[in-house]
Amino acid sequence: MKVVKITEQDNVAVVVAPTKAGDVIEGMSLTALCDIPQGHKIALKDLKKGDSVIRYGVLLGYLTEDVKAGAWINEHNLELPTSPAVESLKAGKQGTVCTDVPERKTWMGYDNGPDLPAGSRNILGITMSVQCVAGVVRNVVDIIKKTILPKYPNVDDVVAVTHPYGCGVAIAADEAFIPIRGVKNLIHHPNFGGQILCIGLGCEKLQMDMILEPEEINSENVVILQDCKGYQAMIDRICELAEKKLAVLNQRKRVELPLEKLRIGAQCGGSDAFSGISANPTIGYAFDMLAAGGAQVLFSEVTEVRDGVHYLADRCQDEKTVEKLKSEISWYDKYLERSHVDRSANPTPGNKKGGLSNIVEKAMGSIAKSGSSPIVEVVGPGELPKCHGLVFAATPASDIVCGPSQLASGIVMQLFSTGRGTTYGLQEIPVYKICTQHSMKAQWDDLFDMDAGYVVTGEKTIAEMGHVLYNDILDVVSGIKKTTAEKYCLYNDFLVFNPAPIT
Ligand code: CA
Repeated sequence: MKVVKITEQDNVAVVVAPTKAGDVIEGMSLTALCDIPQGHKIALKDLKKGDSVIRYGVLLGYLTEDVKAGAWINEHNLELPTSPAVESLKAGKQGTVCTDVPERKTWMGYDNGPDLPAGSRNILGITMSVQCVAGVVRNVVDIIKKTILPKYPNVDDVVAVTHPYGCGVAIAADEAFIPIRGVKNLIHHPNFGGQILCIGLGCEKLQMDMILEPEEINSENVVILQDCKGYQAMIDRICELAEKKLAVLNQRKRVELPLEKLRIGAQCGGSDAFSGISANPTIGYAFDMLAAGGAQVLFSEVTEVRDGVHYLADRCQDEKTVEKLKSEISWYDKYLERSHVDRSANPTPGNKKGGLSNIVEKAMGSIAKSGSSPIVEVVGPGELPKCHGLVFAATPASDIVCGPSQLASGIVMQLFSTGRGTTYGLQEIPVYKICTQHSMKAQWDDLFDMDAGYVVTGEKTIAEMGHVLYNDILDVVSGIKKTTAEKYCLYNDFLVFNPAPIT
C-alpha cells in the first residue's frame, strides 16, 4: 500500500487507495491499524492527545485522543486550530527559496522592452471599450483571419477580445476601478506586442481616455463605430488598420530571454481529493523553481485560500506585503458579507468523504500550488505585479473570472489543475491543463497536457513531476509546444471581474 507525504515535517500521510487493517505501507515500517478510505490520513508515528497534526508542513489541528502509528486521522479526532483574525496577521518570513536549481534558465519569447514581461505568442488583439460592438469585432476578426492574416506568417493569431463591461455600469462606483483596470491592462497585454486596435461605439460610459494613454488615442489605434458611415465602412476601416498592425507584428522574432521576463499564473477548478496531493504540489514545485530563477509567478483564488491565509502571511517577505494581503482579504470578506454568503459550509460533505477533515486542510490543498517560496508581492484583481518571484493575485476562485483577472495582470501562460475535468481555455495565452490521477487522464486522454497521477501511484515523486512541468512550461512559452486547449481552440470569454453595480 502506498501513501503520499507532502513535506518532511508532516506526521501524517495520505493513503492513495482504500486501505485495509493490517496492510503494510510501502517504504515505511508502518501498518494500517484499521480500514482507511482512499485519500484519508494515516498517522506516521505515535501521537498524544493535544499533539499537532502536521500536513503540508502546517498545523491542521490538534488531536482529541492518543493515537498509535498507523491510525486513521479524520474530522472526529482532529480539533480545528483557531484562525487568527485578519487584522492580527504578521509577516513571518517562513517562505523558503528553492535550492533545486535547473540547468535551463532561459526561454525564447517576444521581448517587449525593459521592465516589461515578454510575450509567449505573437497576436493581434482587437480590443473594445464596450460589449455593444462585439458583433462587429467578431465578424471583422473572422474576415481578417481568412483574408489578411495568411500574408503575415510570423503572427500566430488575431483575437476578438470581447468583454461584458463598458456601458450600463456604475462607472463612478467605488469598485469600478477593478473592471476598468482589467480592460486597460488587457489592451496592453504582452502577447499583443504593443499594437493597439481598440473599437468603441461612441456613447458608452467607458471612454477611451479611461483605458488608453493620451498618446495612444488616435485614428491609427481607435475606431469609433458611430463615426463610420454604415457597416461596410466599419469593416473596411478596421481591416485597413489591422493590416498595418499585422505588418509590424510580423517583424517580431523570438529571442533568448532570462526567466525575469516570464510572467505566468496558475489556478485550479473542478478539484477532487487528489488536487492537493498530486497536481497542485507539482505546480508548486515548478513555481518554486521559476520563482527562484526570477520569474513572476501568480497564484490566486481568495475564497479557496481564505482559511489558510495566516500561512500566506507567514510567507510574506515584509510587513508591506502583509498589509496589502490584509486589505485585499478584508475587502473580499466584506464583498461576500454584503450578500450574506456563508463560508461556514466549507468543507462540503463530499470533501470530508474525500479525506479533507477541515477548512484549513482544504485551503492548504489549494495553496499547495504556490509551493513554498516567499510571497514577494500581493496584487488586486487585474493589477500588474512589479516584483519578481511568487505573487498572490487576489482574484475570485471562479475559473472563468480568475483566468481573465490573471490575464489582465499580464500572464503569458496559465497552468490549470483539475480532478474532475474542464474544457476551459483562453484565446490570448496558452492554458496548460494538469489532471490529478490516471483515471481522469484515461477519461479525457486528449484534453490534458500532463497527468500528475504518477505522484498518486508512487511511480514518480513531486520533485520529478515538478521538473517535467518546469521544462514543459518553458517549451510552451517558447512556442516549441502547443497546449491541447490551443490545439482544439477551446476558449472562454474575457469575463472581467465587476463587483460594482450594473445600472
Ligand atoms: Ca478556480
